[in-house]
Amino acid sequence: MRFLTLLGLFITLSLGAAQPVLAQIKVLTSFTVFADMARNVAGEHAEVVSITREGAEIHMFRPTPGDIKRGLGADVALWNGMGLETWFERYLENLGNVKAYTLSDGVEPILITEDAYQGRANPHGWMSPGNANIYIDNIVTALSETDPANADAYAANGEAYKAEIAATFAPIRAAIEALPEDRRWLVTSEAAFSYLARDFGLKEASIWAINADSQGSPQQVRRIIDLINENNIPVIFSESTVSPKPAEQVARETGIAYGGVLYVDSLSTPDGPVPTYLDLLKVTSQTIVTGLTAQP
Ligand SMILES: [Zn+2]
Repeated sequence: MRFLTLLGLFITLSLGAAQPVLAQIKVLTSFTVFADMARNVAGEHAEVVSITREGAEIHMFRPTPGDIKRGLGADVALWNGMGLETWFERYLENLGNVKAYTLSDGVEPILITEDAYQGRANPHGWMSPGNANIYIDNIVTALSETDPANADAYAANGEAYKAEIAATFAPIRAAIEALPEDRRWLVTSEAAFSYLARDFGLKEASIWAINADSQGSPQQVRRIIDLINENNIPVIFSESTVSPKPAEQVARETGIAYGGVLYVDSLSTPDGPVPTYLDLLKVTSQTIVTGLTAQP
């Protein structure tokens, strides 16, 4: 009885102390990376929900009824496009008339050169400090058109965010440019880093082209082993959302270093290594620099 009284008092006090409720828009994103970017642009003016959760495989996701429920009431949806989220348009049909913005619009595509996806655009456009501005500008446009009353705030937040990203990457780029040219290779499990490799002046190779394809077949492993041997490549990396086993096998069979995990398709939980997009770019770039500069 006393507990209930105290509980009632607590609720009354909590409600009494509550801030006036902000008129927020609800922004839905296909994965966690865009949710963090959208929060940086939106500030206090939006509630942002990612359909896929931290650590999820995002290419071929199967939404549950619960995932659909979380999207209900969205004012705007943000996705990558370029063939990345094969499930997204079907998912959106469940929500009725939500306008979707394709955040990769304006990215100059780099084509996939291997396997079944040869000739298609590599969809991982956000994985690039150079492309970050395009994504951020598209988010600013999406939120401003959805909520014109706060357009000035979205534009200001977007500019501050772009400046922060540019400042973070100048020293990392300089460290890579200081490496001998024949060491500047980025070899990974999935070919998810074409844009990052271009930004940093790295040659790129991978065991497989895209996670929707077979991962680490004997032919794929053979091909990358030959490439590593021919070019004296010092290190191979893997990604957080796939098994590291094929990359570790390649490292064992060639005698080169396994450089650890790169993050691209998903953020970690808040207590993990990459809770934000800026962390995702920073930790991944620093892991690459560490792997390439370590002496064998
Ligand atoms: Zn991917």
